[in-house]
Amino acid sequence: MVVLGFAGSAPTYSFIEIESRPMTFPRPLPSPNALTAPYWQAAHQGELKLPRCDACAKFHFYPRTACPHCGAMQFSWQRVSGNGAVYSFTVVHRAPSKGFEALVPYVVAVVALDEGPHLMTRLTQVQPDAVSIGMRVQVAFEKQDDETTLPVFRAEEKS
Ligand SMILES: [Zn+2]
Repeated sequence: MVVLGFAGSAPTYSFIEIESRPMTFPRPLPSPNALTAPYWQAAHQGELKLPRCDACAKFHFYPRTACPHCGAMQFSWQRVSGNGAVYSFTVVHRAPSKGFEALVPYVVAVVALDEGPHLMTRLTQVQPDAVSIGMRVQVAFEKQDDETTLPVFRAEEKS
């Protein structure tokens, strides 16, 4: 199935084509496009990379065609620390669709990365009752299949 997505900000709107992947995994998996492929490729190699503006040097996320800080359209993908803090979270008790039954209850969180951007993710290896706003977390990677690895976050290890 082909779905038309909408990307960009005024006045440079553009349509991008998003190709849905066939459902071979029990849960929906990301469908990388030209904008997001570097993120998913890095994750599959165990690295968290974000776009960093070549003009103002600030990171941003989600990937988009223009820097949300200065409007420049040139950026580079750079590895970030993978460290951050829980900005917000919710506990999912009821599976939202087929394939999620084995995961509940699980924690969906917005993580404020130390580099600035916020990233929506799932917390892993943590009891939902133990999660709190401001809790330090670090990235971990969960391989889903031969093409896809999801960045998730767990409690920061004390060193
Ligand atoms: Zn910028």
